[in-house]
Amino acid sequence: MTCQGCLVPRHTLVPVCPGKNFQIISPPESALVTRELAEELLRVLDRFGEIARRSGFRKVSIFFKPGIFGHHKVGRAADIYAVNGLGLDEWKRRWDAVWRRCSSVTDANERRAIVDHERQRNLGWQLYKALQTCGRWSQPYGYPIQLFGPWTRSEGPWKHISDFLLNAHRDHIHVAK
Ligand SMILES: [Zn+2]
Repeated sequence: MTCQGCLVPRHTLVPVCPGKNFQIISPPESALVTRELAEELLRVLDRFGEIARRSGFRKVSIFFKPGIFGHHKVGRAADIYAVNGLGLDEWKRRWDAVWRRCSSVTDANERRAIVDHERQRNLGWQLYKALQTCGRWSQPYGYPIQLFGPWTRSEGPWKHISDFLLNAHRDHIHVAK
C-alpha cells in the first residue's frame, strides 16, 4: 500500500491516509505530519484495523485532533482522540469498570474469561496495544519512547509515566516519530 504523501517533497507536511482496514473521520488538517510519520501511522493503523476485523468489527474509524506542543510543532507527532466514534477516555472507563468487576470475582477462570472478552471488544485498548507492539516511535536521548495514552502506566512502554503526563493523556493517545 502506498501513501499519497510519498509524492510530495520531504519537508512538506501531509495528512494521514486512510488504509484498507481503517477510515479517518476527522478533517485532514487534524493530523498534518511528516511523510515518515504518515507512513508509520498508515502501516500500524491498518494492522490495528485488521486485528479489529478479526474480532468481528467492520472497518474501524479513527479521529485525530491537532496538537500544539513539542513534536507537534514540526509535524512529528499525532494525537488520536476517538475510535469508532467513542473517545479514548470512554474506552478506558469501560476497561476500568471491567477490571473493577473482576476484582470481586473469586473464580480465576471466570475472571480470565471476563478480561479476554473485554480485550476482544475494547477498541481503545486494542489500538493502544497495536501502536505499542507494531509501531516504531521516536525516543529522544534521555527521554521515554514517545507513545503516551490512558494505558501507559498499566501497559507501558513507560510505566513510570508521571501523574502530570498521564493526566495530560487521559483522553487521547500521542505518538511521535
Ligand atoms: Zn500529542
